[in-house]
Amino acid sequence: MSRPVLATLDLAALGNNLQVVRRAAPAAKVWSVVKANAYGHGLDRIWRALNSTDGFAMLNLEEAILLRERGWKGPILMLEGFFHADELPLFDKYRLTTSLHSNWQIKALQDARLQAPLDVYLKINSGMNRLGFMPERIHTVYQQLNTMPNVATVTLMSHFAEAERADGIATPLARIEQAAEGIDAPRSLANSAATLWHPETHFDWVRPGVVLYGASPSGAWQDVANSGIRPVMTLSSEIIAVQTLKAGETVGYGCRYRAQTEQRIGVVACGYADGYPRIAPSGTPVLVDGIRTGIVGAISMDMLTVDLTPCPQAGIGTPVELWGNGIKIDEVAAAAGTVGYELMCALAPRVPVVTV
Ligand SMILES: *Cc1c(COP(=O)(O)O)cnc(C)c1O
Repeated sequence: MSRPVLATLDLAALGNNLQVVRRAAPAAKVWSVVKANAYGHGLDRIWRALNSTDGFAMLNLEEAILLRERGWKGPILMLEGFFHADELPLFDKYRLTTSLHSNWQIKALQDARLQAPLDVYLKINSGMNRLGFMPERIHTVYQQLNTMPNVATVTLMSHFAEAERADGIATPLARIEQAAEGIDAPRSLANSAATLWHPETHFDWVRPGVVLYGASPSGAWQDVANSGIRPVMTLSSEIIAVQTLKAGETVGYGCRYRAQTEQRIGVVACGYADGYPRIAPSGTPVLVDGIRTGIVGAISMDMLTVDLTPCPQAGIGTPVELWGNGIKIDEVAAAAGTVGYELMCALAPRVPVVTV
């Protein structure tokens, strides 16, 4: 082993988190969302740990093809559909369910020559105003899809802008209900937050992502602390040097931290080029030899520095957990002003990954 930074993926935690989702939405089928290379975990590494799912949802054609080549025969939902009409032969070949959010896609699907019709997800704009048809257009589009030989089944799909809020569902759900009135089709609406906290959104298929990887959709770990979910990724490293600062001395770039009294500092082999957020301030929690302490000073490209005051026994070679079971990724993200989603997706390719 060379440089000690390492990401360890707990595959049993993934399976456990899928079970938590199943208990939360017992009547729904589950699209396990594995976009962005399975939220930075590596699709090829982790998908088998989720193979009791009902389907996988993503948005990169390459990732969908990889799953097919590895032998996944169940449904695959492409969350943004095809980006250009020339992808349709591959959707056909690999039997991918496509979202449809814009007129040009419907036209392209109509004009395509397919071996067999495709299942489609008709996207309703819930008011988030990213993708989807306005509610008042849904009836017309739905009727049109039903007449198209290239369309097998139609499911209504939508997405919530703030399902992590207790009052974040009512208005978009009313818009969706209005769009779907009188349409007898399955529905898929719920992301992780809606799956955990808004049972009235479950319907036929839920689409959890971040909760499968063991982070909170609200960004606050305490919101999921009692749900039974467990972190999948642990980012760890070791102390590679120790400094003893005198009162008034500083550490690192920009002299962003100044010791008030004599203070032992550990230098950890992990930096922003590994995916640790450079913006994380002094005080961001970190676990050294199992003891909670804090970052001091600026995060460098390849190193960061930690306060060893609470762990005087720590020295060169002492293990450090940047995030994982002891320090939740949500805590680091909150200190850095972001969410766990971004940190897991930003894990750098140079970090070795092992699965357990
Ligand atoms: C990413 C995504 C999800 C999953 O979101 P989480 O918040 O990670 O659960 C569900 N549906 C769509 C359309 C998405 O893009």
